[in-house]
Amino acid sequence: MPPEAMRAMLIEEPDGPLVDAEIPTPAPKPGEVLVQVGGCAVDRFDVAIRRGVRERATSLPHILGHEIAGTVASIGSDVAGLNVGDRVASTLYLVCGECRWCLRGRETICENFGGHVGVNIPGGYAEYLVVPARNLVPIPDDLGLPEASILANAIGTPYHAIIVRMGIRPGDRLVITGAGGGVGLHAIQIGVMAGADVMAVDLGQTKLEHARALGASAAVDPTETDLAAAIDDWTGGVGADGVLELVGPATMPTTLAGLAKGGKMVIVGSHTGKDWTIDPGDVYRNEWEIRGSRNVSADELLTVVDLVDRGLIDPIIDQTGGLEEAERFQQRVVDGTVIGRDVLVPVKS
Ligand SMILES: [Zn+2]
Repeated sequence: MPPEAMRAMLIEEPDGPLVDAEIPTPAPKPGEVLVQVGGCAVDRFDVAIRRGVRERATSLPHILGHEIAGTVASIGSDVAGLNVGDRVASTLYLVCGECRWCLRGRETICENFGGHVGVNIPGGYAEYLVVPARNLVPIPDDLGLPEASILANAIGTPYHAIIVRMGIRPGDRLVITGAGGGVGLHAIQIGVMAGADVMAVDLGQTKLEHARALGASAAVDPTETDLAAAIDDWTGGVGADGVLELVGPATMPTTLAGLAKGGKMVIVGSHTGKDWTIDPGDVYRNEWEIRGSRNVSADELLTVVDLVDRGLIDPIIDQTGGLEEAERFQQRVVDGTVIGRDVLVPVKS
């Protein structure tokens, strides 16, 4: 049986400090599972929620943390296929499981979208959390829980974007902006795994060196090198077959113009603003495709688990530490010094 009380890092006021506290261990309701947290990654989204620039937590005090893996500790009623002791990774979104999109395996665009784990329900900066059973997928015994915690976001997000939404093919030339971040470094691996030639775009030579080490054949800092000319040179004037956009309007006009005829841009993130001007004539004359992509489905996450288990994608973790490291890990995100992900390990397994 799980203990009656657990340790958690609480936000008690908007933009307030992370408070190391002991609180009652939650109990799973029907359809839910209590997970002992063996890994919870820290990323930019956590910092944004804490600062209140994104959706507010539904109530205070709140527990952050949405990239989670752990061990099933107890199970609510109406849950099939899971047992106490199972090792699991969790998807991020709260979805209905019943709408037309959920029924087609596209639950990331659920009609009754309920928000995020760690935003709209308490997250993984704690020894235990309760999540809907439909969010959980099993992971193999030899995959570490810290590594498993980053599968659904840092790896699942670019998997869905590049493989499912873009449909990358062997030999394609793929430009990835924000390539040095946690999602970007795994996006490079997925592009290379799929047989694409990858150009990494990001700020700073340290990030670009990591990008090259992971197989990017070109790496460009657009503050030092003209990005449009670099794409033109790299593609022999043809243009890129695909662009994965993790940055937004700061790079989008250049990367869109850098597409080959018939090229595809997939937009996963935009932290550099909202406004962007497109000439529709450029889009139709070139038959460009501009698509959105949002995280990963539970079904696709199973494939991601398999790819990592087979060694085809390497989860990149920088530092791990106990809950007391949450503040420092968030600061490292703000400072941009993390390579891959830092992961909290609330309970060691
Ligand atoms: Zn739904």
